Amino acid sequence: MIEKNRDFPREITVLRTILRRFSLNPQMHAELESKLSRKLAGYKGEKELDYHISQIDHARFHIFHDLRIPHNNTHFQIDSLLISDTFMLVIDSKNYAGTLDFYPEFNYLLQTWNGIEKVYPDPILQTRTQAAQLKSFLIKHHFTPPPIEFIVSISNSQAIIRNPGNSHEVRMRVCKTPAVAYKIQSFNDKYQNEVLSIKEIRKMTKLLLKSHEPYIPDIPSMHLPMNQVHKGVQCPECGEIGMKRIYGNWVCKKCGHLSKEAHIAALRDFFIIYGPAITSRQFSEFLNIFSIHQSKRLLSALELDSTGSTKGRIYTPGKNFQLWE
Ligand SMILES: [Zn+2]
Repeated sequence: MIEKNRDFPREITVLRTILRRFSLNPQMHAELESKLSRKLAGYKGEKELDYHISQIDHARFHIFHDLRIPHNNTHFQIDSLLISDTFMLVIDSKNYAGTLDFYPEFNYLLQTWNGIEKVYPDPILQTRTQAAQLKSFLIKHHFTPPPIEFIVSISNSQAIIRNPGNSHEVRMRVCKTPAVAYKIQSFNDKYQNEVLSIKEIRKMTKLLLKSHEPYIPDIPSMHLPMNQVHKGVQCPECGEIGMKRIYGNWVCKKCGHLSKEAHIAALRDFFIIYGPAITSRQFSEFLNIFSIHQSKRLLSALELDSTGSTKGRIYTPGKNFQLWE
């Protein structure tokens, strides 16, 4: 059964917000654009992995998509984790294109794509490390971990996997995403002894779900030009920033689109850029609303959490406001 679905990556939402709201120098703009497209390609590969995992016999496995667990002053991240009563399996998804030469004996991967060679850390070693961190995390929480296996799933259908050293490790641990179900089956055949009770799996599931902390990029450490933020309500139709509130509607001066709710997306942008707290004055300023009373009306209609007196009231997203996609 699926214990945890994959959430839409918050990092992608943050990058999109920055690219929409900031005037960036061309170099920074290009860097963030390329980071965004890498993250989108990675997410696409992970969704494909989810699809192929969904093809296996679910009754046998407890499945977790995307876990990020704090451990020993850092975090370890697992793209997909499967737990059965006989073993655990950590799966890492990579979306590298081109020809991929694995050199596990030297701990690197050589990618050749469009005539350009690039070296990456060995994904087998990375995934082995995730499995070791998971084991250590479980021991710390008084579990006796079952055997923990790991594989690397290459999602790019055009990628060519090569194993120049004819390494057993590469043959065993690396596959194209559509072959993941067969890999799972082979581990399933290998491990026959029941080592985890239903009760232990339930306790483990609870611990993993409780410990998960989604990654959110830290805006202050990104050195963004904080005085170069485009303020205003963005048109959901054409993307123009600067809609005007006229008789209960947001009106786009460029395309004429009307919206009742375009301020919600603007508030979300504010929370992502400045952090999850806003006053009605900040709301007025960010959305270019001239009447403070109108700001207060719009804010209170959103049923945010709030603290403080009427004048200095601070609003935070709370459970009624969907900050993330
Ligand atoms: Zn428009």
